[in-house]
Amino acid sequence: KKYTADENRYENMQYRRCGKSGIMLPLISLGLWHNFGDKDNFDNARTILRTAFDNGITHFDLANNYGPPYGSAEKNFEKIFKEDFKHYRDELLISTKAGWDMWPGPYGNFGSRKYLIASLDQSLQRMGLDYVDIFYHHRPDPDTPLEETMGALDQIVRDGKALYIGISQYSAKETSKAAEILREQKTPFLIHQPRYNMMDRWVEEGLLNTLEHEGIGSIVFSPLEQGILTNKYLNGIPEDSRAATEGSYLSESQITTEVVEQVQKLNDIAQSRGQSLAQMAVAWLLKDQRVTSVLVGVSKVSQLEDNIGALENLEFSQNELEEIDRILKK
Ligand code: NDP
Repeated sequence: KKYTADENRYENMQYRRCGKSGIMLPLISLGLWHNFGDKDNFDNARTILRTAFDNGITHFDLANNYGPPYGSAEKNFEKIFKEDFKHYRDELLISTKAGWDMWPGPYGNFGSRKYLIASLDQSLQRMGLDYVDIFYHHRPDPDTPLEETMGALDQIVRDGKALYIGISQYSAKETSKAAEILREQKTPFLIHQPRYNMMDRWVEEGLLNTLEHEGIGSIVFSPLEQGILTNKYLNGIPEDSRAATEGSYLSESQITTEVVEQVQKLNDIAQSRGQSLAQMAVAWLLKDQRVTSVLVGVSKVSQLEDNIGALENLEFSQNELEEIDRILKK
């Protein structure tokens, strides 16, 4: 059935400015790492994207190697985009990335000019787009000079293939260096995409300060610790969960008794706040204004709706914050 976006789509979502830029991001964005590959249900993927946009989620995040197989998330996105979202292109921020292994041989990985430019050309072709809004270097490359990688990003912008540049998983120090080079080049360095959630707080050790200082926004990935920070693993491991899925980056062995005990206690706090645990985990990230957007993944529409519900209570008492820290202290 033909899709027309909900006319009230901008009524409830909130938007936050991305660093010192002209761009506002929705507090919740949608990532296509899982659930959009060829092995996944296409209609489900489509309904997730439609529901996201109907709720004011204007930002979809991809990468060259999302699938599996690699490239298939971009391909499937193209099919859905062409039929459902073409008319809304100017209401959408679409991102992709390169930096991890993508094709065989020495030119399909890491951070060379050769790889980044070829990879984005392939991504644009797979997605049927003339440009992406944000192109990321997906991870730091210890061996390629940063000047080469940043130079490639700059050229991509000059060539009109991306409007803004981002980096992912770079340390605070690497980020400062990248920012310096990009500033000299006058490349629009919009955003950093780090991993951040209640259980993984490395960004608090310097990266968030660096980003604020540089005027760069952040969009944080794996906000629910891949599903651990929800109620789904409280009573065992559901068959259709990521932890039970072969070849995923979450294994059953990570769902230890200790983790489940912590999650149970966090769940109690969430309930006392009138929220699901997923909602509390999202709200907890958004309490920091330096976090521009929380990048969730979902396998079901109901999960997306649950996560969006986080916006109804973003306030934390000092007591709640301390209690959360106590529970998670190792
Ligand atoms: P999350 O931590 O949000 O985990 C998503 C998973 O959690 C879902 O697939 C689902 O698992 C479960 N889930 C989500 N919402 C709920 C809910 N309300 N109730 C119960 N379970 C829920 O994030 P991801 O790890 O998926 O990462 C999000 C995005 O971040 C990616 O799509 C990608 O765009 C980006 N990313 C970037 C990386 C980088 O290097 N820059 C690395 C990793 C991700 P289930 O399948 O079990 O139902």
